[in-house]
Order: sequence, then C-alpha cells, then structure tokens
Amino acid sequence: MLQSFLSKWSQPDGDAPSERHAEWATEVQLEIVRAVAEREKRSLTANLIGWAACVVAAIAMPGGEVFAAPVIWRLFSIFYVRHSWGRLREKLANYEPYEEELALAKFSAVVSGFFWGLLLLPLAVGAIWHPLALIILTVATIGVSLACALYGPIPRLLLGYYALFMTTVIGAVTITHVSFDWWVPSFVAVAGCGIISYALGSGKEHRKSAETLVENRRLGYELKRALSRSKYLAERDPLTGLLNRRAFFDQVTTTQRNGTAFLLAIDLDHFKQINDQFGHAVGDQVLEKTAEVINSLLNGLPGGQHLSVRLGGEEFAILLHQLDRATAVSTAEALRERIAAIADLLRVDGLTVSASIGLAQYGEDDTVEEALAGADRALYEAKNGGRDRVVADAA
Ligand code: GH3
Ligand code: MG
Ligand code: MG
Repeated sequence: MLQSFLSKWSQPDGDAPSERHAEWATEVQLEIVRAVAEREKRSLTANLIGWAACVVAAIAMPGGEVFAAPVIWRLFSIFYVRHSWGRLREKLANYEPYEEELALAKFSAVVSGFFWGLLLLPLAVGAIWHPLALIILTVATIGVSLACALYGPIPRLLLGYYALFMTTVIGAVTITHVSFDWWVPSFVAVAGCGIISYALGSGKEHRKSAETLVENRRLGYELKRALSRSKYLAERDPLTGLLNRRAFFDQVTTTQRNGTAFLLAIDLDHFKQINDQFGHAVGDQVLEKTAEVINSLLNGLPGGQHLSVRLGGEEFAILLHQLDRATAVSTAEALRERIAAIADLLRVDGLTVSASIGLAQYGEDDTVEEALAGADRALYEAKNGGRDRVVADAA
C-alpha cells in the first residue's frame, strides 16, 4: 500500500524520487502526530472519570488507603501528559519544529504507563482480591487499553508505555514473591496481546487516513498548479509572455478606471526585412527583447496598473493608467529609444531595430476599441512621417 503510494508520487516532474519519498513520509508522519495529539486532547474527561472511579473504589474498599499514593501519582501523570501534549499541539498549530515536544510527549506517555502500573501494584502485591479490587482492575485495564489505542499509531511509544506498565507490575510481583494461580498470568498475557493488537490496528487506521489526507492534499495542490498554469497559457502570448489580445481586452474592461489613461500602439519598423535578412530566429529574439523592454519600463513607472499586450506579429499595445499626458509622451519616447537599443543588445552585425509609436488618450467615455483606433491613426502618421518616432493624438 505504502509502496504503491510512494511509487505514484515518484512520477511527477521535479525533485529526485527519494527526496519526494522522504518529503511524503514526513508529511504523513506529521499528520499522524497531529491526529494523535488531537485525540489526546479529547481524552482528558475519560481519564478524569476513570481516575474518579479508582478513588471511589479505593475509599469504599477495606484497606483501600494503600491506593492513596498511587492515585495521587496517577492524577499527577494525567496532568503531566496533558501539559506535554498541549505543548506539542501548540508547535503543530504554529507549523514549528516539533521533535523536542514530541519526545517529551512520548516520555510523558511512558511515565503515564509507569503510574498505571503503580496503581495496580497494591492489588498484586497486597493480594487484595475484593469485588472493588476487580472494579479497579477493570477501570485500569480499560484505561491502559484506551491509552494504548491513543498512542498506538506511534508503535515505539506504545511499546514504551506498555513495557513500563508491565515492568512495574511484574517487577514488583517478582520482588515480593507473590504467587498466583496459573490463570492470573495467563489472563494478563492474553489481555496484553489483545491490547497491543488493538492498538496496532488502530495505528494502521491512523496511518491510512493520514496517507489519504496527504494524498488528497497533494492532488489538490497539483490541480491548483495545473489550473493556474493553464490560465497563464490561455492568457499569454507564448513567445513573449505578454498578455494576448483576448486577455488584454478582458482585463481592460474589468480594470477600474481612475484618472486619465493613454493607449500606445507600437509597431516594429521593417520587421519583414529583419526576418528576410537575418532569419526568423533573430526576428523572434527581437520580439522577445521588445517585450522585456516594455515590461522593465512599465515596472518602474508611477500611476495605476498598466497593461501590455502583443496584439499579433510585431504589433504591441500598452495601456497607461493614471498618468498625465506629458509623462505618457515621455514614456513612449523612452520606449522608442530602448527598442532602438535592442540591436546593440543582440550583437547581430548590420541589424537595426526601431519602432513607430502612436499615442491616444483613452477618454472616460471611449471604448477601448475607439482608443486603440485613435492610437493606430497616430501610429500610421508616425510610419508616414519616416518611422522610428512617436506621434501623439491632438490633446
Ligand atoms: P512596417 O515598417 O511598415 O511596419 O513594415 P513591417 O515589415 O514591419 O510590416 P509587415 O506587416 O509587412 O511585416 C510584419 C512581419 O512580421 C511579417 C511576418 O512574417 C512577421 N512576423 C509576424 N509574426 C512573427 C513572429 O512571431 N516571429 C517572426 N520572426 N516574425 C513574425
Ligand atoms: Mg505591422
Ligand atoms: Mg511593422
């Protein structure tokens, strides 16, 4: 089962498989610890009721005062466990490293097993076989079962807990040479096996649900990533990474208008010649560099959210938000200069690159198509005026 999960996660791109396995195992382990810690939180009431039942039984039993100290120790261990698992839960909630707290929580569980053992000692050592002793024994056994089920998902913890419990009881019985009929140790052994197998079974359940949780979460992430990637691909021009025509028009209509806006229509000059003379690959590089130049220029610009688009071929457009006319014109001029410098960047002998730019105001009542038509008219004038220039519409 685990193998099939692991091999599944080794398929996708990226990290080395062993790294992914380790990450996956760590995530599953974290979820197990989280689930165990949450379950511990809910066990306080049951623990206190069990403890109260022991106290009532001890008071009602002749010679019950021998339970006084163990009962107090048991109460102490309940709150010690509570405290250390509380610290662990805090670390988990804050997504902080939790190794130290987990070690302390495990230790507290082991201590708890020891005190359960101590609580049963007077029954064994003192050989008090009274009906109420049976009640204590039953409550204690249920308590141990609960605790084993609770901590079972972490097998080493379970073994430590159970070992301490058994060692305490068997050790004391051995030292004090109390002898029992054959059925008593047999009963203890059978009950012990039952408790351990129950706890391991519940541990498996825990692991399975943690694995399902982690797998679903990962599938969720993958899906989210795939969705955002396909959204990106649907909105972007693959060569330059700028918005494509459709996404640009969508975004322009949904972007809130605030203050004056301008549209720049940009067309590279004699681009067909660049392709013919230097090849399509160089033409593509010029287009990519043009997009880079546009992006870097817009990044450093004041005003609102500016948008840039590759309308198609060697034609681009920019929407400038919340800029005055003078800044819009100087931006267009700066863009023209930076595009003219692309040839130097590409270091292709004999290559010259330039662009003609038309600028039009995008009035409050204009549609984006009207504004773009205005910028196109200005662009046409720039072409007719000899190219490599900026022409603005009449203010
Ligand atoms: P003008 O100065 O009048 O704008 O002339 P021009 O040559 O730039 O304009 P024209 O519209 O005649 O040519 C545009 C060229 O752009 C033609 C087409 O092969 C080329 N082109 C369109 N898309 C791409 C592309 O993605 N990569 C490359 N390398 N070339 C492209
Ligand atoms: Mg063109
Ligand atoms: Mg052109």
